[in-house]
Amino acid sequence: MNASVTRTNRKIVLITGASSGIGEATARHLAAAGHHVVLGARRTDRLALLVNELEAAGYSAEYTELDVTDRASMTRFTEGALARHERIDVLVNHAGVMPLAPMSALHVAEWDQMIDVNLRGVLHGIAAVLPSMLERASGHIVNIASTSALRVDPSAAVYCATKYAVRALSEGLRQENSDVRVTVVCPGFTQSELADHGGAAEVQDAVRAATQQIGLPASASAEAVGYAIAQPASVDVSEIVVRPTAQN
Ligand code: NDP
Repeated sequence: MNASVTRTNRKIVLITGASSGIGEATARHLAAAGHHVVLGARRTDRLALLVNELEAAGYSAEYTELDVTDRASMTRFTEGALARHERIDVLVNHAGVMPLAPMSALHVAEWDQMIDVNLRGVLHGIAAVLPSMLERASGHIVNIASTSALRVDPSAAVYCATKYAVRALSEGLRQENSDVRVTVVCPGFTQSELADHGGAAEVQDAVRAATQQIGLPASASAEAVGYAIAQPASVDVSEIVVRPTAQN
């Protein structure tokens, strides 16, 4: 257990999208800080390997299969954690997809997928943990938006729409609750698998090239999450933007 995390401030942290990229880095960072991490994603083979690795290092972790687009799956994820640990201190909504393409390409199924994972998935997460957090008058919801929640670019219209929405609903949630902390983390270009799935090849190739050139390691955003979580209950770090110095 890390020196700064004691038995009394060790948190039960649920992380969606923990099988790769920023979610995986956040799992590593928070587990190493001494928290217990409950990991969710669809690729359970990867989660199993990660949990084994964390446990072998002396950290505390477990995983559950999770599809954030399915409310019942999200409920199983959070209710299971509640039953085992009697509380959820933090939910980090990382799961996301980014199949970028111009709207004229009419990739309507991928528009739906972005809405379902990036927006509906976050709402499912909030719905699943908010009641128990309100009951305990304590909790923290961390939503991963993007610098695409701050500016719109061509070929990213629907992705940006989902991330603007996540930022908006996070601010509303924050204003509505005086006991539950809400944090939005907006990463810029970050090394991960995000551009490897779907979208228009020329757009995704350009994203991969830019990421290769200036992309941050996933640990940069993971540390931002760790910073927000580590603050006292009276301090809500509402928004953090973590972008490469060279990103325009
Ligand atoms: P990755 O592709 O590496 O990770 C995405 C994660 O989301 C995976 O663990 C994946 O797991 C999970 N996921 C996707 N669909 C679902 C689903 N239906 N149910 C559960 N989990 C799902 O990308 P990043 O780490 O980069 O992305 C993490 C977050 O960061 C996203 O919200 C992304 O939008 C955001 N972001 C990333 C930036 C970047 O440059 N990389 C910049 C700004 C924001 P699995 O497939 O196993 O289910």
